[in-house]
Amino acid sequence: MNLKNLTLPELAETIKALGQPPFRAKQVYSWLHKGVRSYEEMTNLPKNLRDRLGENYPIQAPTVVRRQESRKDGTIKYLWQLSDGNCVETVLMRYHYGNTVCISTEVGCRMGCAFCASTLGGLVRRLEPFEMLDQVLFTQVDSGLPISHIVLMGIGEPLDNFDNVMRFLELVNSAEGMNISMRHISLSTCGLVPKIDELAKRNLQLTLSVSLHAPNDGIRDTIMPVNKLYPSQELIDACRRYYEATSRRISFEYAMIGGVNDSRENAKELIRRMKGLPCHFNLIPLNHVEESPLKPSTREAVAAFQKTLEDGGIPATVRRTLGGDIDASCGQLRRKYTKGN
Ligand code: SAH
Repeated sequence: MNLKNLTLPELAETIKALGQPPFRAKQVYSWLHKGVRSYEEMTNLPKNLRDRLGENYPIQAPTVVRRQESRKDGTIKYLWQLSDGNCVETVLMRYHYGNTVCISTEVGCRMGCAFCASTLGGLVRRLEPFEMLDQVLFTQVDSGLPISHIVLMGIGEPLDNFDNVMRFLELVNSAEGMNISMRHISLSTCGLVPKIDELAKRNLQLTLSVSLHAPNDGIRDTIMPVNKLYPSQELIDACRRYYEATSRRISFEYAMIGGVNDSRENAKELIRRMKGLPCHFNLIPLNHVEESPLKPSTREAVAAFQKTLEDGGIPATVRRTLGGDIDASCGQLRRKYTKGN
């Protein structure tokens, strides 16, 4: 058992079973959520309790395999090694509104999107809640920068690891832990419709980001295999239900791929299909992945696409690219490292 997977009430049960008073649970919880690597660091605990905890519940923590800092914008990318030797990536981005970490939710991914480096080797395993929490904790510890925002947009499909991701959210949001507000968290999905409905039921105040990337099934089928399972109309309907349930505007991600999904006609089709759905489009110039023939759209095509959407009443922003000099996107660092070894 890993104590970092436990909520405070659950941890209190464990601590009680060791014959300890409840306030000890709070102490242990807050140390664990500060990113300590050993019980020795829990200086306000009696030595015998630290020893017992250490014997029964060794603290697991990731180690830094690679750390790359962008000279242009201060973006820092970490490649972490987990206890079983697997690696995942985390990116720290400095925005004017706060330091944001982009975390991974799985080792690899089984969704098979044509443009994405994370899926090339398939899914290795899902991350446990504490392994997601650790990415936030140890990025904060290592960088010395306080983290206020989280995006679940790293390696993996968060809704394909639903229960662990829900638990992670509860942990990172807890007042005695990092206390990161749900409104500062974005969860990105390729569009697992039943899970979007399940998420809607939780009525969390997080931002749901949906990787749409195409205006219709004809195009989406060719770049996102998940579309064959949950076609775009079902996905858009699920987004409407999500909005009904949560009153949270949907954020759509749209990777701009030259000659594939970036025409004016494509933008107009999107406007028609989004009618009446409060949403926002994030246009992402495609990051080129070595193994893929897909190319980014030209700057002109992106600008024209954005203007068409905006003229049609859909707010659209072009995502600023950060960390372009350090492979800071979408599983590229892990991919290089795994290939090299
Ligand atoms: N599995 C989730 C979250 C991880 S991917 C999802 O699909 O949303 C985070 C975002 O990066 C997604 O929108 C994904 O489609 C996008 N992405 C992946 N590879 C990309 C690339 N090469 N260029 C631009 N965006 C990419």
